[in-house]
Amino acid sequence: QVFYQPVVDAKTGKIASAEALVRWFHETKGFISPGQFIPALEKGGYISELDRYMVRKVIECLEQRRKESRPAVPVSVNLSWMDFYDENMLEWIVSGLQCGGKEEKKMIRFEITETSLAAIGENHTRMLMRLRENGAKILLDDFGSGYSSFNTLKDMDVDVLKIDMGFLRTTRPERIERSMSIINTIISLTKTLGLSVITEGVETKEQIDKLTQMGCGIYQGYYFSKPIPVDQFEDTYL
Ligand code: C2E
Ligand code: CA
Ligand code: CA
Repeated sequence: QVFYQPVVDAKTGKIASAEALVRWFHETKGFISPGQFIPALEKGGYISELDRYMVRKVIECLEQRRKESRPAVPVSVNLSWMDFYDENMLEWIVSGLQCGGKEEKKMIRFEITETSLAAIGENHTRMLMRLRENGAKILLDDFGSGYSSFNTLKDMDVDVLKIDMGFLRTTRPERIERSMSIINTIISLTKTLGLSVITEGVETKEQIDKLTQMGCGIYQGYYFSKPIPVDQFEDTYL
């Protein structure tokens, strides 16, 4: 099932966009976390089928809203590094963007982790740029968690940087100030580079107040909402 998690503009309190996240409800085992089955799908080489399904579902939802002349927000889909080795998959997305309506083009976005991006070769990152040339925004996910964050940023053109939630989740409380200084620096950097920034994993008002002082305005996290089913998302936020 496709769930959406809202991304909120704290200044206005309004919804800015959403991230599509997959959910698996197993008949007998109940809820299985993507953290468990995504690595298995990658290992088996099936992840692109899942990602393709997610893209199709998101486009269907966006088209439906447009046909009914109802409001919509941009929705991002996660891409795995493996998708870049599946040329059919990316060609399929690019041609979808080329023939799709102008509105859907502006509304679907793609998230890729900096670790994935660092792992794929130059040939394949060209495909990512083609998505961008065709009007889709690219979000650099889990920024700061990998081994080559700044190199990735130097080499790739992206639109939005998503700060890794690990910076807010330090197990040693005496380190939190340090962590916040790093976030502060990342936010300043996004301003210099003209990128948008989202802080992920915000759970408290205190975090939001601090981050807003540092110049972040857009948030995703349990403080606002957990990922929820698409119809519930539309009823609540649109
Ligand atoms: P991600 O892309 O970094 O997604 C954010 C994860 O953080 C989601 O976990 C979300 O539920 C969780 N989260 C959001 N706000 C908070 C918060 O305030 N506190 C905490 N503790 N967690 C928060 P989820 O849905 O379990 O997904 C885990 C990962 O699985 C995702 O991390 C993403 O890498 C991957 N994933 C999920 N759906 C897809 C998909 O359709 N395709 C691919 N390729 N990967 C996916
Ligand atoms: Ca993501
Ligand atoms: Ca993330």
